[in-house]
Amino acid sequence: MNLDTSSPREVCPHCLGSEWERNQETGSVRRCRCGKAHRIERLLDAAKIPKRYVDCDLESYKPNNPSQQKAKSDVTKFLDKYPLVEYGLLLVGPCGVGKTHLAVALLKRVISETGDRGLFYDFSELLREIQSSWDPVSQASQIEILRRVEEADVLVLDELGAKKPTDWVRDAMSGIINGRYSDRKLTIFTSNYLDNPARQGEESLTDRIGARLRSRLYEMCKVIEIQGEDFRRFVKQANYRF
Ligand code: ADP
Repeated sequence: MNLDTSSPREVCPHCLGSEWERNQETGSVRRCRCGKAHRIERLLDAAKIPKRYVDCDLESYKPNNPSQQKAKSDVTKFLDKYPLVEYGLLLVGPCGVGKTHLAVALLKRVISETGDRGLFYDFSELLREIQSSWDPVSQASQIEILRRVEEADVLVLDELGAKKPTDWVRDAMSGIINGRYSDRKLTIFTSNYLDNPARQGEESLTDRIGARLRSRLYEMCKVIEIQGEDFRRFVKQANYRF
């Protein structure tokens, strides 16, 4: 999929770019068939999926173990039911098992099949953007960021718990997550932090985001735990050749 807005769009042969199409026999005019494709293209652009992940889809996710198979099947079931789903997903597991890949695959499918608004944010980046617009001069941009986060039909918040949990970070996370909860909006989270870390001394998700927010997520999301090795290390490295 080409999400590069800088590339020139091909002119539609049916409407020559006007998005209105004339029926040659009756002379009547109606919205061109290309309009929907353009709308989807605009929505995919607006979702702000990082370039590194734009090609991720369900077909290219190749499960390497039963937990990955289950994760792919749960995402597929979510999509089959969408929009008649009442809860989001919380994808947890170690680095490189494809949590972000699956979240992006879901987001792209929702947008292209339903035309709903989707948005991707690395959670730390979202908090950084909010923090940096925390002055009266740039208040407008802060309101704009929060409006888009609130209004997205499906929001992906990647890497929950990655940012050092200061009081400000916890308050800002709570504001965003509780807002989505109150509006009954679907949110897909990914996190490297587990509820019960395997190794002693490792921080849990509750350590990173606080008990109150962890409890809220139980109400909002089905947890999908993915196990496995870091795909980047084992598969990608093996394919790199000079
Ligand atoms: P995580 O979010 O769990 O840290 P990512 O989704 O960022 O992992 O995955 C890292 C890279 O490995 C991405 O390029 C992703 O497309 C790829 N990847 C991970 N698991 C798989 C898989 N099972 N099949 C295909 N690609 C995968």
